[in-house]
Amino acid sequence: MTEYKGVAIFGEAKEGKLAVITTELLGCGRKLCSDLGQELYCLLIGSDVSNLTQEAIAFGADKVYVVSDPLLEDYQTDSYVTVVERIVRQLTPQILIFGHTSIGRDLAPRLAFRLDTAVSTDCVELSIDPNSKLLLQTKPVYGGNAQAIFTIDTYPQMATVRVKVMSPLQRDDSRQGEVVIIEADLDLQTIRTKVLEKVVEEEEGIKLEDAAVVVSGGRGIGSVEGFKQLEELAKLLKGAVGASRPPCDNGWVPSGYQVGLTGKIIAPDLYIAVAISGSSQHMTGCSGAKTIVAINKDPEANIFQEVQFGVVGDWQKVLPAFTSKVKEIIAE
Ligand SMILES: Cc1cc2nc3c(=O)[nH]c(=O)nc-3n(C[C@H](O)[C@H](O)[C@H](O)COP(=O)(O)OP(=O)(O)OC[C@H]3O[C@@H](n4cnc5c(N)ncnc54)[C@H](O)[C@@H]3O)c2cc1C
Repeated sequence: MTEYKGVAIFGEAKEGKLAVITTELLGCGRKLCSDLGQELYCLLIGSDVSNLTQEAIAFGADKVYVVSDPLLEDYQTDSYVTVVERIVRQLTPQILIFGHTSIGRDLAPRLAFRLDTAVSTDCVELSIDPNSKLLLQTKPVYGGNAQAIFTIDTYPQMATVRVKVMSPLQRDDSRQGEVVIIEADLDLQTIRTKVLEKVVEEEEGIKLEDAAVVVSGGRGIGSVEGFKQLEELAKLLKGAVGASRPPCDNGWVPSGYQVGLTGKIIAPDLYIAVAISGSSQHMTGCSGAKTIVAINKDPEANIFQEVQFGVVGDWQKVLPAFTSKVKEIIAE
């Protein structure tokens, strides 16, 4: 019978460094490993990832499995699923964790099918059941109105984890670990698609998902011009602008601004929701914020149930007053 042991993290790289989600997963994986008394593995796959092994160890990995091959430069479903399946079949980890990123969302379910196991997607908490030693996987359900805890009794127990819900460990460059190099050994016949062109979306200023402050507008903002006022405040606070779905659907802001279930999931220090009613689909994307402030003219708006601070009023009066106060404070 196969013995499943250890916790494996699927690592992602971004701009020549480990992606933040990978450092978060390593932090979470470390905790699971100490509860299980097992080792933490990190899988690094790409065309030029060998230089990231020490970083993975510094953030908590005991062993790093590296597959570096020019064919793996861009994420491509067939090649990645083939390589990860091969490693996982050799490694037989008890737990296998992905970020709930575009890659993780594509890869994890396909892999779960091939490995004849199951995956819980978009988890916000992972822990070990002290009695069964199974992985407890907490995830929002019913559009974020409730949380459910799942377990899987087939192996590896797989989960994808939402960005910014776990904390990385303090980087420790003195940590020691082992690096295992694996050949990609890819059969070109199995790769059915290829990247023809990459179009990079131009982004100005701080990225929504990285911003410590987000000023977000809803349907009540009413126009492109309205959003200019939100931009002014966001700039003053060194933050980014976000939106609920209607402003994106109406073309007042690009679709990349959408926060929520079908948009971006963010966890800034401060989220200012202006003329947003607070639907569960929207709140799914921002409930991880440390502080939420709402401005809404309807005192019964659901958003007021979800926030720490609320202002009942017309945003066209409240926002300019708030913005000029912020300017005053900055000038002091
Ligand atoms: C499957 C699915 C996925 C979805 N995914 C998302 C998602 O990812 N993100 C998302 O946001 N939505 C999503 N939605 C849509 C969601 O259900 C809501 O319809 C949407 O969030 C509402 O946006 P809103 O709050 O801006 O608009 P509304 O609900 O219309 O609210 C507008 C608010 O503005 C206030 N207001 C109006 N004028 C002013 C003023 N002058 N001053 C102050 N306040 C004012 C009103 O009182 C009201 O509360 C999804 C829906 C479905 C079914």
